[in-house]
Amino acid sequence: MSSLLSRFTKDSWLSGVLLGVCAVSLSLCGNNSVQAADPVRVLIVDGQNNHNWKATTPILKDFLVKSGRFTVDVATTPDNKQPASAWDGFRPKFSDYAAVLSNYNGQAWPEPVQRDLEAYVSNGGGLVIVHAANNAFPEWTEFNKMIGLGWRDAKFGDRLTIDDKGQAVRTPKGEGPGAGHGSQHEFAVIVREREHPVMKGIPVEWMHAKDELYHGQRGPAAGMNVLATAHAAKQTGGTDAHEPMVWWIRYGKGVVFTTLMGHADYSMQCVGFQTIVNRGTEWAATSKVTIPVPAQFPTASVTLSVPAAQ
Ligand code: ZN
Repeated sequence: MSSLLSRFTKDSWLSGVLLGVCAVSLSLCGNNSVQAADPVRVLIVDGQNNHNWKATTPILKDFLVKSGRFTVDVATTPDNKQPASAWDGFRPKFSDYAAVLSNYNGQAWPEPVQRDLEAYVSNGGGLVIVHAANNAFPEWTEFNKMIGLGWRDAKFGDRLTIDDKGQAVRTPKGEGPGAGHGSQHEFAVIVREREHPVMKGIPVEWMHAKDELYHGQRGPAAGMNVLATAHAAKQTGGTDAHEPMVWWIRYGKGVVFTTLMGHADYSMQCVGFQTIVNRGTEWAATSKVTIPVPAQFPTASVTLSVPAAQ
C-alpha cells in the first residue's frame, strides 16, 4: 500500500481528488451555470452596402463584444464587381450562431443562402436588421415577411405609423409617402412597449445621436410589434408622423428584430443605439435579456455617445 501511494506525488494525488469533486459537481448542478455563462454566438453579415460598412461593422462588433455577452464572427460577401462564381464560396453556416446581424444591403444572395436563412429563423434563430439592411432584397418574399417594413416605394405594400394617442395606423399600399428620410439630425426616440424585455428600464423618451430618420417604410407589415418610434418632423423633411424605429416579428420559431437607426459611425456611437442592439440581439437569440441598461444614458434632451474604438 505504501509503495502504491509512493508512486504518486502529493500534487498529482490532490489533482486527482479535485478532478473527482469537479466531475461530481458538474454532473449534479453544472449544467445551468455553464449555460448561463456561455457566450451567445453572433454572426454579422456585411460586404455590400450603400453605407460605409467597413467603418460600421467594427463598431457593431466592438460594442457587442464589450457587452460581455457575445462572441462575434463576420461573414463578408463578395463585392458587386466580382463574377457570379465568387458567390460559390459564400455559404455562411447560420445554424452555428444564436443570432445573425445583417449590416448588408446589396446584391441578392444565392438561392441556397436565402433558403438557409429562412430555415435558420424558422427553426428558432434570431435575425437582427440594422438600418439599410432593410433596404435589401425587395424581390425576396420571405425576407419581406421577416422584416415587415422595408425601404420600398408606396406601391410595394402597407405603411405603419403610430398616432398621437399611441394607436397603430395602417396606410394601404399606394396611399401616402413611400420610403425616404429628411436631413440628418438628433431626434427623440419614444419607447412604446415599456415592459418588453429589451425596453424595460430604458427611458420612455431619449435623444438619439445624429442619424437618418427613415419614414414611409413599406411591406406586408404582418405581425409587427413596434417597440419604439420617432416623430419625423416636417421642418427636417419628415412626414409629421410617429415612424416605427424599433420592432420585432415572429417568423416560425424565430424572431426578427429591426432597428432603423444606425446610418453612420457617429449614429452607432449613441449609447441608446448600442443598448438596443445589444439587448435586441440577446433577446432575439435567447428570449431573455441580461444586459443591463447603462447608468449613463441619453436623456430626453441630451444625447450620449461613446468614443470610437481605437
Ligand atoms: Zn442611411
